[in-house]
Amino acid sequence: MNSRESVALVTGASSGIGKAIAIRLVEAGYRVYGTSRRGAQDSRQLFEMLPLDVTSDASVEAAITELLRLHGRIDVLVNNAGFGVAPAGAEESSIEQAKAIFETNFFGLVRMTRAVLPHMRRQESGRIINISSVVGFLPAPYGALYAATKHAVEGYSESLDHEVRTKGIRVSLIEPAYTKTHFDANLLAADSTLEVYRGMGAHVEKALSDAITKGDAPSVVADVVLKAATAARPKVRYTAGSLAGKLRLIRRFAPAGLIDAALRKDLGLDTPAASQPRIHAVER
Ligand code: NDP
Repeated sequence: MNSRESVALVTGASSGIGKAIAIRLVEAGYRVYGTSRRGAQDSRQLFEMLPLDVTSDASVEAAITELLRLHGRIDVLVNNAGFGVAPAGAEESSIEQAKAIFETNFFGLVRMTRAVLPHMRRQESGRIINISSVVGFLPAPYGALYAATKHAVEGYSESLDHEVRTKGIRVSLIEPAYTKTHFDANLLAADSTLEVYRGMGAHVEKALSDAITKGDAPSVVADVVLKAATAARPKVRYTAGSLAGKLRLIRRFAPAGLIDAALRKDLGLDTPAASQPRIHAVER
């Protein structure tokens, strides 16, 4: 693909990974539009911003209509917008909160995909690049709903890729591990907290925040996105960063029992902090 004239749209480009991806694509010669629910914030941006809320059909339709009015085509869609609910025992989120995280992380991506596919099919070309996570193929205790959205993204993307490949369209998943962004600051707290999980929740919150602080730069993910966008034969899955690469290998080759034990040890799930609050719990 000649990237010089290609048009790319990156959702959630106001910060973190999305911003780094948008900048990397500009540097590679793409005409890039980023999106944010707040629209353009900084007129010195290297790329243009469109207002977009991926949870709204009307907002998605308006953004795609505007892009097509301006350029008549869309070559690359990067579905990056997303957030986490953590620390949150799976039982600590209401059904409303479960729906809310799926509405952005999964249905938002589906909405965007449905909006661009007719145009990519008409062009007989296009790349859809979905930002998943290592928790798209690993469990995330105290982040179960977030992991569920990323597992859903994985199943949807791999299936869709088979459907559209003969139409000149490819779908790729990018799987980063901890990445240094505002992700932890933008986490949503559980809305139905239970005393029984409190000790472990605080422990996991600190572990997550420490890991993100020491995580990869967002540019690591951006480089991989560019690779997926420009590869003549893109892969369905790309890990981003060395930790993600190692975790993928472990998932593929290590016995399930070993992974189970390592994860519990790593998160301290069997330590007194994990079990102590249960003794005092008076709930519901
Ligand atoms: P940030 O919180 O820094 O960025 C999230 C972006 O998503 C923001 O630009 C925000 O835009 C946008 N966003 C959130 N909700 C919506 C919505 N409803 N409609 C449109 N945009 C929305 O986090 P990251 O950069 O870390 O996260 C980006 C992606 O990377 C996410 O999908 C996340 O799951 C994934 N990821 C992150 C990892 C990490 O360790 N940081 C690891 C693995 C994956 P605005 O608020 O301006 O609308």
